[in-house]
Amino acid sequence: MTGSAGRRRWIRPTAIAGAALAALVVVMAVRTALMGRPQVVTALMAPQLASDVQLAARRLGEAIRLRTIGGPDGGDPMSFEALREWLIDRYPAFHAVATRTVLDGGTLVYEWPGRDAAASPIVLMAHQDVVPEVDAEAWTHPPFSGAIADGRIWGRGAIDNKGSLVAMLEAAETLAALGARPPRTVYFVFGHDEETRGAGAAAAAAWLERRGVRALLVLDEGSIAVSDHPVTRGPVALVGISEKGYATVRVTARAEGGHASAPPAGTAVAQLAHALDAILARPFPKRYDGATRAMLEALAPDAPLAARVAIANAWLLRPLLLSQLGATPQGAAMLHTTMAPTMLAGSSRENVLATEASAWINLRIAPGDTVEGVMRHLQESVQDLPVTLELVGEARDPSVISRVDDAAYRMVAGAARAVFGIPVAPAPVIAATDSRSMGRVSASIYRFQPVLLPVAGTSMIHGIDEHLSIEALEKMIRFYGALMVDEGGATASSASTSAPTMR
Ligand SMILES: [Zn+2]
Repeated sequence: MTGSAGRRRWIRPTAIAGAALAALVVVMAVRTALMGRPQVVTALMAPQLASDVQLAARRLGEAIRLRTIGGPDGGDPMSFEALREWLIDRYPAFHAVATRTVLDGGTLVYEWPGRDAAASPIVLMAHQDVVPEVDAEAWTHPPFSGAIADGRIWGRGAIDNKGSLVAMLEAAETLAALGARPPRTVYFVFGHDEETRGAGAAAAAAWLERRGVRALLVLDEGSIAVSDHPVTRGPVALVGISEKGYATVRVTARAEGGHASAPPAGTAVAQLAHALDAILARPFPKRYDGATRAMLEALAPDAPLAARVAIANAWLLRPLLLSQLGATPQGAAMLHTTMAPTMLAGSSRENVLATEASAWINLRIAPGDTVEGVMRHLQESVQDLPVTLELVGEARDPSVISRVDDAAYRMVAGAARAVFGIPVAPAPVIAATDSRSMGRVSASIYRFQPVLLPVAGTSMIHGIDEHLSIEALEKMIRFYGALMVDEGGATASSASTSAPTMR
């Protein structure tokens, strides 16, 4: 009897737990099943603009040969002047219909008036400057050769970012030569110092704002299409909808100096080490929200079942998602504000005590955090340790997160879908782009360069053997051309292959 009663008492909670578990599984399964594509991305018409892509490839090679290296130890400043003159020379039909303005030491702004002066314009961005070559000996073709071989254009800037600049102007030149006018005004902003300061783009944003330009959308580099996304293991065009903020904090400890043979209890270097320990022991919390969440939700339909279940049930499985996504440094960077100690300074001699020891921590601030909040967090981390914290150099809050449910996103996503025929998803951008200055011009800022690469292939950007295939250049031209002739969604059709209406 007691045994049986005992079993009943034991069975009942088990049965309840079992029923609850079953209900939970049903809820999770239903949520997983119900999670469809968050939006329909219509494939816009992508006009066949790359009539002579071999010629376009040779032009990109010429642009690469103009060594527009940015920064203080950059190349010949005349190279920027040469590039600007080269553009005028190579794209005459476009220059006949667009007005050209040179700003702040070399940033270019072109205005190509549209048919409807009342329609909100679009802003297409690329940059003229490139980073210096690394390890020139290791390149298959010299970094500034612009060589065309194996169906590819080789050299620094082939992707970052002369590929975009040339593709935009190839599309515009072809349209202008046909006598076509874009339905809405198109501005082109070609920064000259993206890789270093971004002052040119800031000047361009101010210039546009002074003219009252309120753009339907701004498109810059920042993200690409990858052929092997870690979540779906397949191709996906990632349209950047947010960008991290930036700050560098100098942590300084001060102490009595003197000879290293008779050190006091607390030296400046030791105090600095304690402070760094305290700061790094309190990382910023990882969050599953914003652009990262939007990306995962858009990818879910193409993801393996386990990932789909986790994404659909983030309310329950958030810790699992955070640990899976945060397993790599790149993944973790999408989830929170990162801290990277980069520089150190102490005494200049091995046997001299430092009176001042400093460390510089470079922070990339996730949307949702602010420069002010980040400083508060660091101050709380060091508490009453005898160090000072100060912001050095430029500090900026993260971008706003652009919407994915409006006409502007549909234009960009639709063009990507039309050209690549692969899934399109919004994504966070963890690096900085010139578009960060454009918040005053548009609320819809997208960071997407229409080039398809395996994730591992992106290391050539700023690395060795940067190149772009001629086939990829052709797709870029079609993508930018599609945006220029887009009527704003009204004429979009997934099946349409007819020529765009142009006058
Ligand atoms: Zn770039």
